[in-house]
Amino acid sequence: MPQTILTVSYLLASMLFILSLGGLSTQETARRGNLYGVAGILIAVAVTALSPAVADFSLLVPAVIAGAVIGAILAARVAMTSMPELVAILHSFVGLAAVLVGIGNFLQAPHGAGAASHGVVTGAMTVIHDVEIFVGVFIGAVTFTGSVIAFGKLRGSISGNPLMLPARHLLNLAMVVASLWLGALFVGSASTGVDPFVAGVAPGLSPLLVMTAIACVIGVHMVMAIGGADMPVVVSMLNSYSGWAAAAAGFMLANDLLIVTGALVGSSGAILSYIMCRAMNRGFVSVILGGFGTGGGKPAAASASQAPAGEVVSVDAGEVAEMLASSKSVIFVPGYGMAVAQAQHPIREITDILRKSGVNVRFAIHPVAGRLPGHMNVLLAEANVPYDIVLEMDEINEDFPETDTVIVVGANDVVNPAAQTDESSPIYGMPVLEVWKAKTCVVLKRGMASGYAGVDNPLFYNSNTRMLFGDAKKSIDAVLTALRSR
Ligand code: NDP
Repeated sequence: MPQTILTVSYLLASMLFILSLGGLSTQETARRGNLYGVAGILIAVAVTALSPAVADFSLLVPAVIAGAVIGAILAARVAMTSMPELVAILHSFVGLAAVLVGIGNFLQAPHGAGAASHGVVTGAMTVIHDVEIFVGVFIGAVTFTGSVIAFGKLRGSISGNPLMLPARHLLNLAMVVASLWLGALFVGSASTGVDPFVAGVAPGLSPLLVMTAIACVIGVHMVMAIGGADMPVVVSMLNSYSGWAAAAAGFMLANDLLIVTGALVGSSGAILSYIMCRAMNRGFVSVILGGFGTGGGKPAAASASQAPAGEVVSVDAGEVAEMLASSKSVIFVPGYGMAVAQAQHPIREITDILRKSGVNVRFAIHPVAGRLPGHMNVLLAEANVPYDIVLEMDEINEDFPETDTVIVVGANDVVNPAAQTDESSPIYGMPVLEVWKAKTCVVLKRGMASGYAGVDNPLFYNSNTRMLFGDAKKSIDAVLTALRSR
């Protein structure tokens, strides 16, 4: 394929990726954004396969077919609640690919011969190419093992509790310093022509491999130290790392499209991490340093200073239907439990009935409700809830005092008033939906278990809170039946 066609196709694919990111930023255009992304990646894969760099299809074709089939089956089967796990494990593949590309690139053309083969002069370029390989492998290895641990934590096969080793910051620092030293040895071995540790191997191979092992340990240690409540930020941070790893692989392979795509993923992931940190009132650095939150899902011990007091008042579905029917304004607050129960469809039916009788029904979405950014929006869109009544936290938080009834469907941490009142709470400072300010707040959940952050919720004991216990889908179905039979 002529170089010009390759360049133009890469440019077209890059533009489609940018349009895709733009499209994914609102619900209305998200489908179109996805299509742009699919078109971009199809062009990218096809053109790269037909480029002069690929001479042998005997390995490439079976690998692409096997990857496409496995990917399609996994994506079709994955439950929405398991999506973050899938995303995490996919990031680990990008990291692993960057490690393999880096080491493969080095072994194929140690020290600058790779740079020369891409039409650049050796000397300074050799050093730059070596640094590209070293940095790419480092980021790739951290991303690989970090993502595997994030996958395990999100899946529940590794505890959500942060692993707090003594002197862990010192340990991290020592590993980074050791990697820098190995980097200097790696680059230096180009001029000496011998490997600093092992005779007879490609000069620089052993510092590269030792650094890879150290970077793998950094990835494990970094994510193990991060608690359950910070996992959303970690997943988006690893998304960013995987982008930079891909960009580094692009530099190694002198592939412009991979550089552009990697930079897009890297920077959008970094921006998303920043937005999420703000939504949780957490400093980015403090997230990376770890030690926050627990596994969740168990009845939580309240913090000593503000143990929730009072009775829990439970109601039945018929009473909730009466409350809804006599309300002028209603806000649904969906959370992780709605996703587990798949209660979005009957909620939409209740919404239709109430709106037909003139009730102002809206949905309040917390930026980290559920288990992945946009989780609730996707479920509500799937149930055909109109976009214009689905509002972000900042748009609706001031409206709770004028609201008659709030229905919290399987949300817990994102409606926890302790985030505003209890300085000793691990989620203190996190912006939350102020549901307790409504006239009545009904909470749908199965029991008194904590949410993801593993902290108790004083909301359940408030005098204007009512608990409707049971699976959210069954409860909502019962409310719908009661509403219909009125
Ligand atoms: P939470 O995890 O705080 O609470 C969910 C609640 O749903 C639980 O208390 C549980 O109580 C209830 N529940 C579970 N299953 C059902 C069911 N079938 N029917 C009814 N209720 C059910 O969810 P939130 O959405 O409020 O908060 C999200 C949390 O997850 C935050 O801490 C966030 O940091 C974290 N997180 C967010 C990610 C994101 O990107 N959005 C990613 C990873 C973590 P019970 O067992 O008693 O029913």
